[in-house]
Amino acid sequence: MKDLLNEPVSNIKGIGAKLEQGLNSLGVYSIEDLLLYFPARYDVYEIKPLSELIHQDKVTIEGEVIGEPSLSFYGKRKSRLTVSLQVEHVVVKAVMFNRSFAKKQLRPGDVVTVTGKWDQHRLQITVSNYKKGKADSQARIQPVYALKSDVSNLQIKKAVATAIAQYQDSLQEILPAQYLTAYKLPGRLEAVKHMHMPDNHQVLKHARRRFVYEEFLLFQLKMQLLRKRKREATLGNSQVFQEEKVERFKNSLPFALTSAQTRSLTDILTDLQSPYRMNRLLQGDVGSGKTAVAAISLYASITAGKQGALMVPTEILAEQHYQSLTDLFADKANVVLLTGSVKGKKRKEILSDIAGHQANIVIGTHALIQEEVIFHDLGLVIVDEQHRFGVEQRRVLRDKGLQPDVLFMTATPIPRTLAITAFGDMDVSVIDEMPSGRKQVETYWVKDNLLERVLQFIQKEISNGHQAYVICPLIEESDKLDIQNAVDLYHQLQEYFEPRAAVGLMHGRLHMDEKEEVMKKFAENHIQVLVSTTVVEVGVNVPNATVMVIYDAERFGLSQLHQLRGRVGRGQDQSYCILVADPKGEVGKERMKIMTETANGFELSEEDLKLRGPGDFFGKKQSGIPEFRVADMVHDYRALETARNDAQEIIASQLLEKDKEYELLKISVLNDSILKGETLD
Ligand code: ADP
Ligand code: MG
Repeated sequence: MKDLLNEPVSNIKGIGAKLEQGLNSLGVYSIEDLLLYFPARYDVYEIKPLSELIHQDKVTIEGEVIGEPSLSFYGKRKSRLTVSLQVEHVVVKAVMFNRSFAKKQLRPGDVVTVTGKWDQHRLQITVSNYKKGKADSQARIQPVYALKSDVSNLQIKKAVATAIAQYQDSLQEILPAQYLTAYKLPGRLEAVKHMHMPDNHQVLKHARRRFVYEEFLLFQLKMQLLRKRKREATLGNSQVFQEEKVERFKNSLPFALTSAQTRSLTDILTDLQSPYRMNRLLQGDVGSGKTAVAAISLYASITAGKQGALMVPTEILAEQHYQSLTDLFADKANVVLLTGSVKGKKRKEILSDIAGHQANIVIGTHALIQEEVIFHDLGLVIVDEQHRFGVEQRRVLRDKGLQPDVLFMTATPIPRTLAITAFGDMDVSVIDEMPSGRKQVETYWVKDNLLERVLQFIQKEISNGHQAYVICPLIEESDKLDIQNAVDLYHQLQEYFEPRAAVGLMHGRLHMDEKEEVMKKFAENHIQVLVSTTVVEVGVNVPNATVMVIYDAERFGLSQLHQLRGRVGRGQDQSYCILVADPKGEVGKERMKIMTETANGFELSEEDLKLRGPGDFFGKKQSGIPEFRVADMVHDYRALETARNDAQEIIASQLLEKDKEYELLKISVLNDSILKGETLD
């Protein structure tokens, strides 16, 4: 039965080769594709009293034809038909172009419903659509399909209507009845009909609700099946680490782990020991102590006789981690740094150390996973700021025959909604607690005209022995203009502060040595004011810095602002973040306001998601966020959670395999194309 729906759309009566081609270009190949090619939006024609119509709007009115319509011709074969309609107690002229045939249809006394552009002054409507008879509810909500090339909206409407009539018996329910009952969802056929031809808003709403749930449930089932399959495919990957050594190392740290850190660490260590390959996301706000957890995990892997790798997005970060891990591990491990700037003989040596297992821990950027890097026995890979690493990088590792345990860390708190979908095939640990004693960063938003006061404020903090970052917007690292901005600002601030304080400059175009030099000076307080582009965004740790000034803050997203703000507030002293911005739009103003009010990264990321939409959140390709036909991850977030829980139950109880009622659902899950796509690696 179901197979009928997989037949090509050309099997539908009235669809010829040309229309088929057009539909194909819209991604519609099978009859099922067409039935599920839902309108992108709806035009709503509501009949309003004449007094409420707005000049030049598209409106729908209903009236009685009075007198004989008058037809006139002009140009070559062009015609104009004027029909007088009695609407309420007024005579309205309905003008139709090139529809001379309507003259015979519209007889005096007929009631007609016309839609078109309203001219308030002439009491005239230029008709785009008309229909004999009263305005029935059907006509009110009209589907508008996403179109391309030569297919018209009307053609799709007709094709869908024919397809429904011809194939409705083949369209089977795939959701077990209990879910329809529990959530009061309409059946599949009914919902398809209502998506395309809704009688009213109510049925459309329920049809939509049904497909939102269906899409989310299918997606969640796929993700969870995939995760199960992945785990089963990676059996035999157990890292037997030495527990007492790890415990001792943990106790040697200058602080006790927070309970959230302890929980996350336990998750990770359990994964290392288990025969399954770890695929875990460690989420935690800036400064929540992820790096500490990472370090202990790396150490555990070393005691299991394996190598560990830490991949980070920028060279600065790599260097900083290299410094701190070298100190931390001292003689317990040989830590090496491998970035693009490590060249020549030095590089050869490091590569040989990695291949020969003289190196226990390798820290680096993308360079880490290049062809030439050969590990002796890579046990654990930690990827910091995961969203900057694409699907591609992960694949390279795998293609090299490496099946290490993988931990992704991100300081950009990922909204729960996105974590559930984009990372549905991962395990997630969350550090949702800050080490004690941290003071919240006070955040202010000022306009450009208060710049002088901002500088005075920086001066005051410097006098108290503190340091400041001043961030210049930089959208593209390669953009010369942006670098110039930073250089100009640098000179300006030099003039203002020197010789009372030293000003430094940092941007992506500097050489590694120069960057290192500047960072070192800043870390050692030889520089008090660091002018920088966003290269300092992630990870940089100078606890003595208490001021973060961000110029043109409206050019950054909330999550990025939060990242930048996280550079301060790392020590015991009260820190400040000052956003200098003059946003024009409401969204920009809203953003600045939210920043001053919210310190919680998770909340901010939810707000960011709402303001920007999921596509923008991670940047396009890397996101791995699937496209849904109907569902919207932000707005339908509750349905997403419901579907996720249901999917978990279905998988755990093996209902797909065992329960006949789930047979069609199972077939749909295994057939769907999202699974086969690029989104899951
Ligand atoms: P993240 O990587 O999440 O941004 P880090 O691991 O870099 O955070 O930690 C930020 C700072 O807090 C570091 O200086 C680190 O030494 C310190 N730190 C980490 N965990 C704790 C803890 N449990 N108690 C106190 N300080 C901590
Ligand atoms: Mg970190």
